[in-house]
Amino acid sequence: MKMLNEQETQKRLELNKKVRELNDSVANETSRLLSEKGVFCINIMGSPGAGKTTFIELVSRQINPKQIAVIQGDLESDVDKKRLEKLGIDSHQINTHTGCHLNAEMVKLAVDSMEFGGKKFLFIENVGNLVCPANKKIGQHLNVVISSTTEGSDKPKKYPIIFRDAELIVISKYDLAGHVDFDEPSYISDLKNINAKAEIVKISKNMPSGFDFAGFFGEIRNK
Ligand code: MG
Ligand code: ZN
Repeated sequence: MKMLNEQETQKRLELNKKVRELNDSVANETSRLLSEKGVFCINIMGSPGAGKTTFIELVSRQINPKQIAVIQGDLESDVDKKRLEKLGIDSHQINTHTGCHLNAEMVKLAVDSMEFGGKKFLFIENVGNLVCPANKKIGQHLNVVISSTTEGSDKPKKYPIIFRDAELIVISKYDLAGHVDFDEPSYISDLKNINAKAEIVKISKNMPSGFDFAGFFGEIRNK
């Protein structure tokens, strides 16, 4: 591998900084636009198969599906979009192809093409990935991480950055915890070390959690 000299390293760092600043200014514009329309934007992150789409399905039992819009980020396919449309949720697909996370520009283009009449919530289902969607502005007002028991209890320790900025952390597939030796005390204690303020909620697909998601989002929106 070719080593970069000091000057080249500096150039790259500056370029990265510029790219990030540009991304963040587009993201800020998107959140401002959505706020103006009265739409609260929630970025949902988590591994492939953690239950991000299932989470949106569960929440849509508490919030009128007509008030929800979704942006689906996936490499290929519109499988999840079709799942949500079955529930009457307007859903917009972004296929990133090789891209492993959504950026502000992709989201802005989608938002500009969408109709938000009567919508109160925009859920963005990010590309399934615990690494690079973390710590990225895409226009969201709030971050949610979905983390399933079947992925193991070491996830907060291994991927702290994605857990750090989340206001809500959802432990999904909680009914399977006993089957996969999910070590809940160690998971929770790691999580508290990384992010003491996050709300932690346990859910299972077929067991209502009893948590008032609509109320939780509403409270943060009104802050
Ligand atoms: Mg999904
Ligand atoms: Zn990525």
